[in-house]
Amino acid sequence: MSQSIATLESLPGVGPGIAAKLKSMAIHSVADLLFHLPLRYEDRTRITPMHLLQPGLDAQVEGRVLDQQIRPGRRRSLMVVLTDDTAQLVLRFFNFYPNQLKLYAVGNRLRCYGEVRFGAGGLEMVHPQSQLLQPGQAPPLPDHLSAVYPTTAGLGAQRLAGLINESLTRLISGDLVLEDPLSDCGLPGALKTALLSIHRPDSLACLEDLIDGHDPNIQRLALEELCAHHLALARLNQARSKQFADQLIDTNGLAASLIGQLPFALTSAQQRVIDEIANNLNSNRPMRRLLQGDVGSGKTVVAASAAAQAIGAGAQVAIIAPTEILAEQHRTSFTQWFEPLGITPVWLAGKVKGKARAEALEAIAGGAPLVIGTHALFQSGVEFKQLRLVIVDEQHRFGVHQRLALAEKGSDTDRGQRRQRIPHQLVMTATPIPRTLAMTAYAGLEISVIDELPPGRKPVTTALIPQQRRTELIERIRLALSEGRQAYWVCPLIEQSDVLEAEAAETTAQELKKALPEYSIGLIHGRMKPDQKQAIMSDFKSGHIQLLVATTVIEVGVDVPNASLMLIENAERLGLSQLHQLRGRVGRGSDQSACVLMYKSPLGERARARLETMRETTDGFRIAEKDLALRGPGEVLGTRQTGMLRFRIARLERDAALVEQVPAVVEQLNAEQTEILIHRWVGEAEQFGDV
Ligand code: ADP
Ligand code: MG
Repeated sequence: MSQSIATLESLPGVGPGIAAKLKSMAIHSVADLLFHLPLRYEDRTRITPMHLLQPGLDAQVEGRVLDQQIRPGRRRSLMVVLTDDTAQLVLRFFNFYPNQLKLYAVGNRLRCYGEVRFGAGGLEMVHPQSQLLQPGQAPPLPDHLSAVYPTTAGLGAQRLAGLINESLTRLISGDLVLEDPLSDCGLPGALKTALLSIHRPDSLACLEDLIDGHDPNIQRLALEELCAHHLALARLNQARSKQFADQLIDTNGLAASLIGQLPFALTSAQQRVIDEIANNLNSNRPMRRLLQGDVGSGKTVVAASAAAQAIGAGAQVAIIAPTEILAEQHRTSFTQWFEPLGITPVWLAGKVKGKARAEALEAIAGGAPLVIGTHALFQSGVEFKQLRLVIVDEQHRFGVHQRLALAEKGSDTDRGQRRQRIPHQLVMTATPIPRTLAMTAYAGLEISVIDELPPGRKPVTTALIPQQRRTELIERIRLALSEGRQAYWVCPLIEQSDVLEAEAAETTAQELKKALPEYSIGLIHGRMKPDQKQAIMSDFKSGHIQLLVATTVIEVGVDVPNASLMLIENAERLGLSQLHQLRGRVGRGSDQSACVLMYKSPLGERARARLETMRETTDGFRIAEKDLALRGPGEVLGTRQTGMLRFRIARLERDAALVEQVPAVVEQLNAEQTEILIHRWVGEAEQFGDV
């Protein structure tokens, strides 16, 4: 076996359990770890004296434990006081284990890294990462930034970083030799150097210079990635040439009846997109269309028109949304539009149980024309009679496998002709993707854009405010709530851990409850059960909750027109497209709405320029273009958060010249080299917006 495919189990401490977690992230070998790129970086090259700590900033401190207390209560918490003789700092833990009591015992010396916040006892770090220092000894500080990697539940960020480090060590020592499929193409640049500068940059500025300065090593990586996408797409297209779909000709004129009874006139953008879809449905070629339209642009009615056409042709249609709340919203709209036409949607979500479920399944198997639900529709017990159109809302929330599972429910193979029948597919997203990027990241999908909002919307005003000025913001919330309006306070992803994220939101909710005791404050985060989330959302919708503290779970599609103030913490950590999505939660009613982006100062020039974009425009497409042009490293590499910007290294704006080279380069590759590239950069179909 070649060294470059050394197994994961050859790494210290890796057994089948960890190996399985890694494989779920498409990491199958030690070499694959090198291509798992950082989400962001932490600066652990310095120790900050405690008297210089500032709330809202990440810092590393060293000190000794003065006091340790367990706070009883509904949830026991651990409080530790640390000092370095310049000042004191409180470390706070909401969940803790016996070995933490030992680590944080009085008298111990520790090095801790975390975000500094204002707490009840002065400056605090919640759940810092800590290292015990032996007496008289201080381990050297790293001379490069520490990378933070995207990870998966059950695999700690530090553990993963340790494994990647081990892999880098082997790369440096020569124990690990990377496969170099483009080695024969006569290109400058070395993979090894590029990977080292990305995993272990001296500083962000250095990395930015490499990336912007067309560094040949980085370019080499980018070219690999672009080639891999090109090859994977070619493979996909080949598989598709054997598929067909039914023509859906609306002989009953149902779509026209639906449009005719709407209480509003379609915008010209909606009309254009409806026509594009209608043309697809009228043909045998399976539709694979991505419908993009900003939040509030009116995608639902476009979906309804497509559904009506298919039903008018005698076919069965399924509409799926990623959450029960969103699916319910669709159920309400579709019921209102389709009942007058004599069609009642069949509803299937996880909560539908027992007799109701059996009835729904029977109706679906019997050919009920319109089926609406959540991922419950993907499950194996659900049999459709003649599913010919699948509509998926907010598609980035679904995994490719789930969508394929549904498409399969409408598939069958014509043995004589060896052709496969599949349903037409329409996927909708409010995340605007610049066209160049969409064509590559979503290659193989046709794209429709609704680039016009219905008349009468007031644009949301946006402000940038450093996190240190929280108290002012609380007054601003008080004012809004006193006027009977509602507000969101979003605490985005802190670490890869949804536990910590949930806790940060919880701490913030407590802080706000203390500051605003006269109002009802709710909390929603990803660790809650779906019913709990649903209950909180409906309390917010009905106005029982006035201020909703949330993690980014509210990102998608929920409509609360009375909410007119959106506050987002750590805004600099989010992709612009995601900020745009969050901002789109307000400005849905008649009130003037506002969005406050809080950031941790100091803000780098690049990060500031990004956030300024949010102030300058509310046009989702312009924002996405800027995101692409301005994404810095760390930000650039933080593709996970923007959801769809799937390239890890390549940047289409920068790499236009590389894109030109791709066809000639892939021409020279043999089957094995092709395999390596696809595996390395695309993994499974996951990377494509294929449906
Ligand atoms: P999104 O694209 O975010 O899914 P929706 O489809 O939920 O947007 O539409 C947002 C709101 O705008 C809904 O209340 C919808 O009924 C309304 N709407 C859609 N199209 C029009 C239009 N052409 N004129 C006026 N209101 C519209
Ligand atoms: Mg929608």
